[in-house]
Amino acid sequence: MTYVITEACAGNKDTACWEACPADAIHPGPGDASFGQHVQLYIDPTECIDCSACEPVCPVEAIYPEEDVPEESRASIDVNRAFFAARTA
Ligand code: SF4
Repeated sequence: MTYVITEACAGNKDTACWEACPADAIHPGPGDASFGQHVQLYIDPTECIDCSACEPVCPVEAIYPEEDVPEESRASIDVNRAFFAARTA
């Protein structure tokens, strides 16, 4: 299981989840060169330890456990995975 950042994050540029994550699973971080190039943050499903620390600190409630992602946002599951697949390719 992993947590997922949905499209509700887009354009917010809030980094509370990134600061709360103990596993460095959320990217890009504010110190990354590519931070300004992405519309939202993403959770790496291979790094997430399912601690839930990110979920309550999100100001727009964009983060869900994978199984609880709302039907209209299910595409975000693959969007998060694809971000990291592209990063390591
Ligand atoms: Fe990081 Fe925990 Fe959120 Fe996973 S659930 S992204 S480990 S804060």
